[in-house]
Amino acid sequence: MRCDVLAVGTELLLGQIVDTNSSWLGEHLAMHGFDSLSQVKVGDNIGRITAHLRRMLDEADAVIMCGGLGPTHDDLTREAIAAVMGVELELNEDVADVIRYLFSSRNRTMPENNLRQAMVPVGATVIPQTRGTAPGLICPVTVNTANGPMQRVVYAVPGVPHEMKEMFERGILPDLQQRSGEQWTIASKTLRTWGESESGLNERLDGIIAELDEVGNPTLAFLASGWEGLKVRLTGRAPDANSAAALLEPWEQRIRAILGSQIFGVDHETMESVVLDLLRRRNWTLGVAESVTGGLVTGRLTAIAGASDVVKGGIVSYASEVKFGLLGVSEGPVVTEDAALEMARGVRKVLACDVGLALTGVAGPTEQDGMRPGTLFASVVFPDESGLGEQVAHLRLPGDRDTMRQLAVISALDLVRRHLIA
Ligand code: ATP
Repeated sequence: MRCDVLAVGTELLLGQIVDTNSSWLGEHLAMHGFDSLSQVKVGDNIGRITAHLRRMLDEADAVIMCGGLGPTHDDLTREAIAAVMGVELELNEDVADVIRYLFSSRNRTMPENNLRQAMVPVGATVIPQTRGTAPGLICPVTVNTANGPMQRVVYAVPGVPHEMKEMFERGILPDLQQRSGEQWTIASKTLRTWGESESGLNERLDGIIAELDEVGNPTLAFLASGWEGLKVRLTGRAPDANSAAALLEPWEQRIRAILGSQIFGVDHETMESVVLDLLRRRNWTLGVAESVTGGLVTGRLTAIAGASDVVKGGIVSYASEVKFGLLGVSEGPVVTEDAALEMARGVRKVLACDVGLALTGVAGPTEQDGMRPGTLFASVVFPDESGLGEQVAHLRLPGDRDTMRQLAVISALDLVRRHLIA
């Protein structure tokens, strides 16, 4: 079944608002097995809205309109739908009562034009409002096509994104599923990766991508998440939850076989939650000495509830004399492998913890100790008996000061992770 999208609002055309509603609807329609083959933006003009709606109904079984349901004269979605249905608008008393109540319960006088929002095309069903004051609409339409008269449906939802999403889930989706006679359960699995560019991942997975394109279900998407890494998401649909999950399983295994330890977690896991779990499994505590990141690593780790059983603390040894005096780093340049290693040993000792992690580097914009901005030395020192030893990594990170520091956080945590899973 095909369901297209018509976003209404002059502000969308002027670039004052980005049309995120259509993208969200496109994604969710696809996830539930509906084709959305055309998405159009139109300004607040009754002639143009009506013309676009008519045109779209020639081809699509359903059209979702978002926006233009407000109380003012330029909110024209209701009028356009009534024109296409060939009916009048009538006051829906139930909707009017809710609007009156919303105002009286806040001790406010209702401007008369708010009742515009209670006007619905004759023959339409209301999706009751729960948040804003505009209800959604389900409007059956008969259109004359080359193949004779056909039944179509137009849905209207408010433009405010959270209202639109809630009404889609509650009112539109069940109606679409009933009309199409098909009901799919969606399962998705997000594999979170670190350490390779999007094009690199694409290349390594191109065989699988080509096969999935052929199969069509499940689908695979790459989502770049900046310094949180790249997400590889599999989405599959099947009649029930178990078979939807089973559909993803073999593809996930094949992707894992190719990407290996580059996958650091799944779904809502983060690099810091994964590192904490790995340390917790060994009953190890962690201390962090930070120079270039000024506490960001410790901040990210301790943002996770329950981190206290692993994280003993962090020392922001920003000035060289703190590195020398408190952590026992040898006097001399402090953006070096040796300094990073001594910081990790030092914090492990000072905080009496099992694992010491340290970061020293140059965030920029200027050089330091002859080192270029983007330079990072990260070191991790594990307990002697573990056999994991003392590790140092020298990285060149891209970006401005902020980006470099955030990349340093995840890179240093990844260093710990990679040794813990080795
Ligand atoms: P309401 O009945 O709640 O007033 P409405 O249906 O009249 O909503 P609009 O007035 O068109 O909706 O838009 C309200 C707000 O919703 C806009 O100011 C904008 O912030 C947001 N919005 C509207 N359309 C979109 C869209 N396509 N994508 C993202 N945001 C949108």
